[in-house]
Formats: sequence, structure tokens, C-alpha cells
Amino acid sequence: MRVLLAEDDAALASQLAGALAAAGYAVDHAEDGQDAEFRGQTEDYDAAVLDLGLPGMDGLAVLDAWRGAGRRLPVLVLTARGRWHDKLAGFDAGADDYLVKPFPVEELVLRLRALIRRSSGHAHPRIQRGALVLDDNAGRFEINGAPVLLTAQEHRILAYLVHRGDAVVSRAELGEHVYEQGYDPDSNALDVLIGRVRRKIGGGRIVTERGKGFRLVDLP
Ligand code: CA
Repeated sequence: MRVLLAEDDAALASQLAGALAAAGYAVDHAEDGQDAEFRGQTEDYDAAVLDLGLPGMDGLAVLDAWRGAGRRLPVLVLTARGRWHDKLAGFDAGADDYLVKPFPVEELVLRLRALIRRSSGHAHPRIQRGALVLDDNAGRFEINGAPVLLTAQEHRILAYLVHRGDAVVSRAELGEHVYEQGYDPDSNALDVLIGRVRRKIGGGRIVTERGKGFRLVDLP
């Protein structure tokens, strides 16, 4: 899963980026409104954390531009103000949730996880695929109750496939949601990662659909 973090306060951005990375997300950081708007229009993020007070282009204008262009990614708005009309303006522009600064970083992570789950049609934080379970709030996988130890990138691959349900996911799509910006789609790094995940969870759980991509199947 890959998220856009639009925050101009360098110290806060660094703290949030660290927490989101530790929670298993690939994170792209935008420091101003124009950059945030452009990335949100051109990259395929699973969610965005959007500060309202951004230089160059206000966060509300960014959100308005995304929604106007039909971008559907879940957006969690950060505001330093917390006044009712600011929240209302955020929701009117198409925000899905908001947090008033200062807030506990753990709360941001849990709210973001819930937004991403909802947008992929999952209500419960434990998502089961046969004997494989993603405990989404804890950020870990189990098979028949035993923990599966994955690296951050391996976790992103498997979490993305779990969120996509029974869909066949192309290599390009998977690459977009596993790596930060700058990923080279021609490299074989993704295949190496998928090989590692297969060895850890049992090869049959990730099926290759020739010429189309990968699909997760339920196995006992
Ligand atoms: Ca700001």
C-alpha cells in the first residue's frame, strides 16, 4: 500500500513519514500544494494525508482539484485550526476524515488503515483468506494463528493483494502500490519479492495468471 503525505512542516512530516513507513506503507512526500495536487492526479495512491495549510496551493484547493478530476482516493485531512467551518469545508471538498493538530501519530495510522480498508470493501480489521489472516491494525499476517514474518516490501505486496480480493492484479499495478515514486517497472525486483512471499506463505496462495498478473486464492 502506498500513501501520499502532503505536509509542509518538515519536523511533523518526517515524524509522520517514519510512522507510516513503520506501519508498512510506501510513502511519497509533497512539501507544497502544487506538488501534492500533481502527484495525486498522476500517481495511484491508496490514500492521502493532506494538510490544509500548504504553501503555494491550499489543501482545500488540492482536494477540490482531485475530486473535480474524479480522483477517488481516501483523503484524511490535517488541520491546525479545528474550527467547525474548517472541518465542514474539508468534508464539502470531499475529505473522508480529519484530524486536528496536535494528534497522536498512532491515531493517524489507525484512521488511515480504516479508510484504506473501507475503500477496498473490507469492514473488519482482520481480513481472512483461507488460513491466511491479515491483522490490519496490528500490521501482521498469520497462517493458522502462527505469525508470518515478512519484510516491509513483502508485507506491502501481500497486503495489497489481500485488499484487492479476488481481482487479478497486474505487475504494473502491484509495482505502483509497493514502491515509492521512482520504481522501475522493467526491473525484476518485484518478481524476486513475490518469490520470497510465496516461499513464506506457501506457493499456491499467489497464482500467476499468464499475461495478466497475480491473484490471491484461499487455501486451508
Ligand atoms: Ca501546514
